[in-house]
Amino acid sequence: MAISTGGRLLWHLSEITETATETPRATSLYLDVPGWEGHVAGQHVDVRLTAPDGYQAQRSYSIASAPEDDRLALLVERLEDGEVSPYLADELRAGDMLELRGPIGGWFTWKAQEGGPLLLVAGGSGVVPLMAMIRHKAAEGSDAQVRLLLSSRSREDVVFREELDRLSAEDGTLEVAHTLTRSRPVGWTGYARRIDREMLAEVAPSPEEEPLVFVCGPTPLVERVATDLVNLGHDPARVKTERFGPTGG
Ligand SMILES: Cc1cc2nc3c(=O)[nH]c(=O)nc-3n(C[C@H](O)[C@H](O)[C@H](O)COP(=O)(O)OP(=O)(O)OC[C@H]3O[C@@H](n4cnc5c(N)ncnc54)[C@H](O)[C@@H]3O)c2cc1C
Repeated sequence: MAISTGGRLLWHLSEITETATETPRATSLYLDVPGWEGHVAGQHVDVRLTAPDGYQAQRSYSIASAPEDDRLALLVERLEDGEVSPYLADELRAGDMLELRGPIGGWFTWKAQEGGPLLLVAGGSGVVPLMAMIRHKAAEGSDAQVRLLLSSRSREDVVFREELDRLSAEDGTLEVAHTLTRSRPVGWTGYARRIDREMLAEVAPSPEEEPLVFVCGPTPLVERVATDLVNLGHDPARVKTERFGPTGG
């Protein structure tokens, strides 16, 4: 499915068709990628920037759009001291060109025909590849049981908040639970701490239901959640993880 030469993925020159501010720290980028041959929900791309002096920087970004969508969507969370993410999140405009290659990754993926139940656990922008799965489920009209547990700093930082609210209201087989780790709005009734074993025990389907689990986000969150799930009795072979970076919060 990926364009390759002798197993090597080629770089595509893509055009930004739209940018959208999702949260104070995260921007969606919509791209037109000539020659794109499609992807599976959960995969990512590599993005490459080249400075006028030839210096290049490359980073990975998960694909947020469903395979059924016409445009490829990425979501970039700005790290204030980051080299690449502030440029992608703040500087790009419709009409700008961006080099990318992909799709990459075959393990952290889900197709609606695989069915459920699914447990999706994310911290911050780690929701991006899981959103591709949720959008894919909606596009296919899949009735797979899907539960998402999403950890965000505050309500304003919840990536794709309105779309998740809408999709879960429309689809009785999609349940979304939030935890807000730093600040909560008045009257907040959701979780208010980092994800822990007790929270996972409450949200996750029981191990007997053999859910397929996808965990994505900052490395410490991913490792803690995966360990807790295995300790709760989930099959390690069914707990798939994607680590976005060394730190997090
Ligand atoms: C498979 C994969 C998929 C990814 N998908 C996404 C995505 O959909 N959206 C997205 O915004 N990012 C995603 N990332 C992270 C992304 O690749 C970059 O690491 C991130 O944008 C930071 O790049 P930077 O150049 O701005 O920061 P850098 O200059 O590389 O790092 C700046 C500082 O931030 C720390 N840091 C680096 N990465 C992270 C991180 N992810 N979280 C917290 N601190 C970090 C570094 O230790 C350093 O101190 C993904 C990473 C992987 C491996």
